[in-house]
Amino acid sequence: MNFGTSRASAIENLNRFVDQNLFEYSRLRNFDYGPNNRSNISCLSPYITHGIISELEVIKKSLNKFSFSKNEKFIQEVLWRTYWKGWLELRPAVWTDYLNELKKIREEFKDDAGYKKAIEGNTNIESFNEWVNELKENNYLHNHARMWFASIWVFTLELPWQLGAEFFMKHLYDGDAATNTLGWRWVAGIQTQGKNYLASEWNIKKFTNNRFSNIKLNENAPPKTSNKTYAASKLEFSNPQNLEEKNLYIFENNLSFEIGDFKDQKFKKNFFNF
Ligand SMILES: Cc1cc2nc3c(=O)[nH]c(=O)nc-3n(C[C@H](O)[C@H](O)[C@H](O)COP(=O)(O)OP(=O)(O)OC[C@H]3O[C@@H](n4cnc5c(N)ncnc54)[C@H](O)[C@@H]3O)c2cc1C
Repeated sequence: MNFGTSRASAIENLNRFVDQNLFEYSRLRNFDYGPNNRSNISCLSPYITHGIISELEVIKKSLNKFSFSKNEKFIQEVLWRTYWKGWLELRPAVWTDYLNELKKIREEFKDDAGYKKAIEGNTNIESFNEWVNELKENNYLHNHARMWFASIWVFTLELPWQLGAEFFMKHLYDGDAATNTLGWRWVAGIQTQGKNYLASEWNIKKFTNNRFSNIKLNENAPPKTSNKTYAASKLEFSNPQNLEEKNLYIFENNLSFEIGDFKDQKFKKNFFNF
């Protein structure tokens, strides 16, 4: 897998995907054929996460090619990320609680043999070990593999989800505080409380096209629990009238300033925080 580091590469990948593979996306997207065959999905996430191309651009391009009904699944997936970002933005304590818990758990698990085996890809689950190596080599995993990986981590290897989320953030090129943290919470069963995602042998076998079989997993574990609930805060947005008196901060998730909302505005100072 090769993620070129320019907007031109992002646009080239988007065009190729829309022209050649979008047509079959909803039928084939759940299959993980391995790192040498990613034609059934877009692999646009590193570009979208860094703002190199926008969700709107991706959706518009897809709608230029096919009708909404033909594109619905793809558009839904693109907007999941937007939804998760908004969800976390309204509940910032989910992120700070995660960081505080992680600090404690990191200390507790620093010499844990099971944790070490997991992050070295040295468990007795072959598929899991392959995904660890794939993640380290390609900085990407298919969505279904992320779900299986997280589920095995939490319910079969019995490791804390916070350490798994940290491991993903360390290696993924598309690492995204909202989608990643909430994705791990969802698998564990604390995002949609009481509903966990359990990876199963038949599902992995089918959707890896028989690359992996006879995997022994805990397929009946109960969801994790948490006594914390998070209400949405009310955020007020007011756009200042005179931007020339304001500073602009640009973070690593907004790397295409030239196509952004503020491209024609003058600011007092621009700060880059990468
Ligand atoms: C535990 C876990 C952790 C994850 N961590 C991240 C992360 O850090 N960053 C990230 O961008 N995605 C994350 N995802 C979501 C998803 O796995 C990736 O967005 C997707 O695999 C990217 O591949 P793609 O670009 O080929 O996706 P495609 O299937 O081609 O989808 C197009 C775009 O839609 C968005 N998208 C697709 N699936 C999802 C989804 N399930 N949730 C939210 N957005 C989605 C992405 O922006 C993606 O680029 C995570 C999922 C799980 C289960």
